[in-house]
Amino acid sequence: MSAGELAALLETWEPVIGLEVHVQLATESKAFSPSATAFGAEPNSLTDPTVLGLPGALPSFNVKALELALRLGVATGSKIRAKCRFARKHYFYPDLPKGYQISQYDEPLCEDGAIEMFVDGQRKKVRLQRIHLEEDAGKNTHHGTTSLVDLNRAGVPLCEVVTLPDLHSAEDAAEYMRALHRLVRYLGVSEGDMEKGQMRCDANVSVRRRGEDRLGTRTELKNINSFRFVQRAIEHEIARQIRLIEDGGAVERETRLWDAEAGSSQPMRSKEEIADYRYFPDPDLPPLAVDGPTMRQVITSMPELPVPKLERFVREYGLAFDDAATLTGERELAEYLDAAVRAAGDGALARPIASFMLTELLRVLDGRPIATSPVTPVGLAELMGLVVSEVISGKIAKDVFATMCKTGESARFIVERDDLRQISDEAVLRPLCEQIIADNPRQAGQYRSGKDNLLGFFVGQLMKATQGKANPSLSAELMKKLLG
Ligand code: ADP
Ligand code: MG
Repeated sequence: MSAGELAALLETWEPVIGLEVHVQLATESKAFSPSATAFGAEPNSLTDPTVLGLPGALPSFNVKALELALRLGVATGSKIRAKCRFARKHYFYPDLPKGYQISQYDEPLCEDGAIEMFVDGQRKKVRLQRIHLEEDAGKNTHHGTTSLVDLNRAGVPLCEVVTLPDLHSAEDAAEYMRALHRLVRYLGVSEGDMEKGQMRCDANVSVRRRGEDRLGTRTELKNINSFRFVQRAIEHEIARQIRLIEDGGAVERETRLWDAEAGSSQPMRSKEEIADYRYFPDPDLPPLAVDGPTMRQVITSMPELPVPKLERFVREYGLAFDDAATLTGERELAEYLDAAVRAAGDGALARPIASFMLTELLRVLDGRPIATSPVTPVGLAELMGLVVSEVISGKIAKDVFATMCKTGESARFIVERDDLRQISDEAVLRPLCEQIIADNPRQAGQYRSGKDNLLGFFVGQLMKATQGKANPSLSAELMKKLLG
């Protein structure tokens, strides 16, 4: 179905989407045992008796996982349960040696929070049903008639973040994923690397006629493992359901598996087959208590969150929304800007610093993290200070910046040593202008007979003659006067 056809159907039909996202918590060791959580290790090298479910092995909860989950709970304004409980979720599959997964059921750690995001520049809240703790299962891979099991992931701590059916388009669902991704990275809760399976999304999708209050029958899409596919998979499912109903059929309550290569989904199991997990409280684990000091520590160490930070960049720094969005995309990038503005000691420098970061600095970094920047916030603040006070031109600033990146020298030092100060003295520039006009009589004549855009040619000549050091606005003004 083309985008246009889908858009036409969406005038009559309203999609309803709820997402269940598994976020890997950034701990060194597993949720209930000491083996490591490293990615890419030799298969089955990160196991221990608890992970393997050997008789007599007992789980013991990793408090670091609790602390990380609490950070997410507090950042989403969730109600935190002072005492929550782990439950066993039973199912039979080779990647789950114990025969059950430790999860949370009727007493999750967090409830009723929300994730904030921007849609078309408007602040929007997506309400959360719950955030609970659980352990990951292992991974099966299939090779012809053989299947292999790797238990390195088994027991890795996860948070499952479940939204209410609050999302109404595939774009919003994708934006929600980006907002959650940004948030967990800001908080240090998870690296959120989807390619390493650190963030995985199941999407519940239904459609209903616009104006209808009741929810339609939903399907659950599994195996959406990249940001790009969140939107594609949901769009595809919305279109499939609408077409089905319009053709006189009905949506089946079923779980479907998204096939990214085929760009479509296949039924995996129907409602009748939906497992009975026989949840019950895990007798091996005591209730999990959250004490006052732990809560205080989490609350007092909360960073400024991405959404308020973006709004502050627009409000206080006067940045355009898109620029503020880019610069708050990663916490370290935003903190670099804040540090540079602080070093500049002048809010008026915020915009030039931001725009220099967006063009020059990001280009130099070429995808590497800002922590590897060859120029510090203090160094960039000094450079931009020289531009704003017209000691050097913006064009020369780029050359100075390139030298700073190469040698680590300060902007001021480079400018003095290489004699790069902008020439703003009319007495110096005037004779140069006159010479250039005298040397180019043909262009001067054309300018005078109305070809205004030749002014750029003359200013360019002056720049050439001064190695780019002539004050650009003064140069233009002077040339105009002398030509006119
Ligand atoms: P389950 O126990 O099957 O996972 P839940 O009631 O916990 O079901 O809901 C799981 C997810 O499905 C939640 O994100 C919820 O918002 C979403 N959801 C529930 N009903 C619908 C619906 N009719 N359409 C879309 N999403 C729905
Ligand atoms: Mg579910």
